[in-house]
Amino acid sequence: MSQFINGKLVEGTTGETIDVIDPSNGETITTLTLAGSNDVDRAVQAAKEAFPAWSRATPAERSAVLTKLAALMEERAEEFAQLESRQAGKPIRLTREFDVPGTIDNIAFFAGAARNLEGKATGEYSPDHTSSIRREAIGVIGSISPWNYPLQMAAWKILPAIAAGNTIVLKPAEITPLTSLLFAEVATEAGLPDGVVNILTGRGSTVGAELLRHPDVDMLSFTGSTGVGRTVLEAAATTAKRVHLELGGKAPFVVFDDADLEAAIHGAVAGSLINSGQDCTAATRAIVHRSLYEKFIDGVADLYAKVKLGRTQDPATDLGPLVSETHRDKVAGMVERARGYARVIGGGIPDEDLTAGSYYRPTLVADANPDSEIFRDEIFGPVLTVTPFDTDDQAIALANDTPYGLAASAWTKDVYRALRATREIRAGAVWVNDHIPIISEMPHGGMKQSGFGKDMSTYSLDEYTVVKHVMYDLTGNKAKAWHRTIFTLED
Ligand code: NAD
Repeated sequence: MSQFINGKLVEGTTGETIDVIDPSNGETITTLTLAGSNDVDRAVQAAKEAFPAWSRATPAERSAVLTKLAALMEERAEEFAQLESRQAGKPIRLTREFDVPGTIDNIAFFAGAARNLEGKATGEYSPDHTSSIRREAIGVIGSISPWNYPLQMAAWKILPAIAAGNTIVLKPAEITPLTSLLFAEVATEAGLPDGVVNILTGRGSTVGAELLRHPDVDMLSFTGSTGVGRTVLEAAATTAKRVHLELGGKAPFVVFDDADLEAAIHGAVAGSLINSGQDCTAATRAIVHRSLYEKFIDGVADLYAKVKLGRTQDPATDLGPLVSETHRDKVAGMVERARGYARVIGGGIPDEDLTAGSYYRPTLVADANPDSEIFRDEIFGPVLTVTPFDTDDQAIALANDTPYGLAASAWTKDVYRALRATREIRAGAVWVNDHIPIISEMPHGGMKQSGFGKDMSTYSLDEYTVVKHVMYDLTGNKAKAWHRTIFTLED
């Protein structure tokens, strides 16, 4: 079954099908029917009908469902890990140790956060009135997620939305919908009322576009590329919907001359190869002090050559395939073009027994000009550019020389340098002497063209709620003191 609408798995009504492919071997995992207009309407209607009761459930009731969901997911963790690994081509070690436990921890976090909505103290801010704040759910959330972390991205959209009392229609990327569908099924088993979470398997250009413009959708929450993010903003304008955008990234990885070089080399390898580099926060632009430049390149190249490409089901595999052949070919094209203007080390399509999958070898691109495509555009593959600098000012300027502002890291033992870098690099997250770790309590989100709005943490609850001011007259007077500003009664 390919859709999850109003608490049930159902088929899409277009009659059109899509094969969900395992990118590690090109085999079809399953064939799903795609959603169309009818399904968008049915899902939004279900979410709209579920909203009054769910938004009035007490925080404790919503929390109880999430607590149960965390427990059920823990029981089925291996099933989630296997499915996520197969549909997205992730090494099983990554889904077992990162995607699935991270999601379970997110659920546990939002089970607590659901009971901790905050606002300003009730009080007499005018002598004649008592003011209070209500923090209320927004309504039906129309959400669209990408293929790189299908389960985590679905969770990051769904959890704060429903913890705050909203209902949601989520359209995952059509090539990786399986764990989103399973997530909704398990949430229903945990006691989530029908219609609170609905999942549509459909194309962005049809189902996605309709969801964005649906008159009964109150807010749009999108994770994906900056290009499609602009389309989301345009669509939101038609009915003035609230928008939450998590977009692309091109994270700088700045290595100062006093850095622990070995630590920086290890950090660069892990930070650039996580999820085959298909990570919006992945280290993509190493900016390295000239005194360490060649040593850094040699160290990363050595470790890249040792990374084990392999079948995603093998726990010894470090690096899996890219999500599809089309995407692998896009990455390969960018690297091939870079050979014309930069020094490319490694890279290429492996020719061992991996040819059926969309694999690509780790690649360093040194000496790339900051104006070049490889330095500027999102590659979303296992590719790291390396650029030298001489002064700290140059390093910060290079780090900020991008339209993106999602994540960055600074590598130094000097606390003052670290403080300066964290203040001056324009990104939603800056790590010092590390790159990648995320935690449920802290926000994830961008600056500049990486979008706005925060996922995870209690900041995300702010995104999915609206504050309402309620003001009570304290005097009981027919003629209020302030009325004299507008009119005066004759005696
Ligand atoms: P994408 O923008 O191509 O697609 C994202 C989603 O939008 C998919 O579900 C797709 O079907 C849908 N879509 C496409 N065209 C649409 C349209 N016209 N109308 C409505 N929906 C449409 O992105 P992708 O290739 O799936 O994912 C990779 C991108 O996501 C990268 O740019 C990456 O940086 C970004 N990303 C950002 C974050 C973050 O938190 N900032 C996290 C993960 C991924």
